[in-house]
Amino acid sequence: MASEESRADKESSNQLIRRALEELDRAFTGPPVAEPEDQQLRLALPALVLATEVAAIAVLDGQGGIVFASPQARKLLGLDQTATPEDGHAPAPPAEILAFRLVAITGTPLSDARCEIAVGGEERHVLSINAAPLPGDGGDTALVALAMTDLTEQYDYYERALRESEQRLKLATEAAGLGVWEYDAITDTYHWDERMMAIYGLEESQRPVTYRDWVALLDPEHHDRLEALTRREPTYGERREVEFRIQRPDGRTRDIRAVWQRIDDEHGRIQRLVGINEDITEQRELHSELEYRAAHDPLTDLFNRAKIQQLLRAAQAAYIRHHTPFAVLLFDVDHFKQVNDRFGHATGDAVLWLMARRIESVLRETDHMGRWGGEEFLILASQTDEAGAEVLAERIRHQVETTAFEGVGTVTISLGVAAAEPGTSLESLEQRADRALYAAKHRGRNRTVRYSQL
Ligand code: GH3
Ligand code: MG
Ligand code: MG
Repeated sequence: MASEESRADKESSNQLIRRALEELDRAFTGPPVAEPEDQQLRLALPALVLATEVAAIAVLDGQGGIVFASPQARKLLGLDQTATPEDGHAPAPPAEILAFRLVAITGTPLSDARCEIAVGGEERHVLSINAAPLPGDGGDTALVALAMTDLTEQYDYYERALRESEQRLKLATEAAGLGVWEYDAITDTYHWDERMMAIYGLEESQRPVTYRDWVALLDPEHHDRLEALTRREPTYGERREVEFRIQRPDGRTRDIRAVWQRIDDEHGRIQRLVGINEDITEQRELHSELEYRAAHDPLTDLFNRAKIQQLLRAAQAAYIRHHTPFAVLLFDVDHFKQVNDRFGHATGDAVLWLMARRIESVLRETDHMGRWGGEEFLILASQTDEAGAEVLAERIRHQVETTAFEGVGTVTISLGVAAAEPGTSLESLEQRADRALYAAKHRGRNRTVRYSQL
């Protein structure tokens, strides 16, 4: 009786496998090019495939028992190569695989479902599984066919690659002094690395969490600009870059450059922002220091010759294009050699510095003074004709004349003035002012001469 039952079981089990193989065959080959006459041959082909190392195929019944497993599938699932369902008990697969019996209930195939199983207690395997329902006799689903691919090696490779790339990024950001942050747009949560905390001068208890927390750290002057920029979400892949100032709890302000990018989920919805912060305070200071040095004379702190020439070219261009008048005042200290000879070069330097300050105090915002060379200076007077320039020159001359230079007494200057004229080049204008200055020296110094009155 018992053997009778077992035979019946074996019979139905074989039928199940047969049907599963037929279905798999259909799935493998699609509509056959030519229908093989021989049913035996038809069944032999997938059986050959199943015997290979490549095809990890298993069939689950509705209870999750394994009714069929190819050798490779047995290996992946950690099943005894010799175990068969012939004793009436289909071997149970790992719990993660058991879950795929649901495909028999839903009737919907799954493709590339990722699943991690532990085989032999320890060893972790990452599988990609395609699961297809196999219709039973009455058309209802009774079985689930699983085709499994072992991705463990690939996963390990990518995980290692990711770890290495993370290490490289860390090294790069650390070496460059960059703070790295991430913002989860779904939960409104920031993740700041240690460098970010250091840049903002924060302690652990002050770690910002929400967008509001971050905004509170900004210099109030920069609030509106940043709010406007951050409220409009960047489009996917768009890079945003902005410079702003923060106020640290210790009272110091720092200039920050921030660059960030948006990361979307697979439906194109914003998910995260990732970015860096760079403390550019020193960089900025150095930059403006260099910028200043490039345009100024170190002794007098006036514009240097290159800068004043640049301003002259701009004035000449505006004169040609818009007939905006301008005039040039060129002046030179009278008998300055004597100042040096009597009081020393350092005192001479001090005279030049103070003279520059005194003259600056009578200039308009739109007038520019530069050191033309030695103890010779040039003033570019905007919106001024020659007569106006003469008035300014006299005011300057009087200012110098009435200044008491400590240990030296008074000094005087001689000035030549010339105004822009149609068809006159910048070089000619400079020469005209120089000739007027020469005339002022020649006529007894401490005076102004207009070029047109030569
Ligand atoms: P004048 O212009 O009235 O004809 O006589 P001057 O004695 O001033 O003659 P000049 O303008 O030709 O000479 C300029 C002198 O100014 C020569 C130079 O030693 C001095 N000098 C030029 N640059 C500097 C400077 O940067 N510092 C000091 N202390 N002296 C300077
Ligand atoms: Mg002189
Ligand atoms: Mg001179």
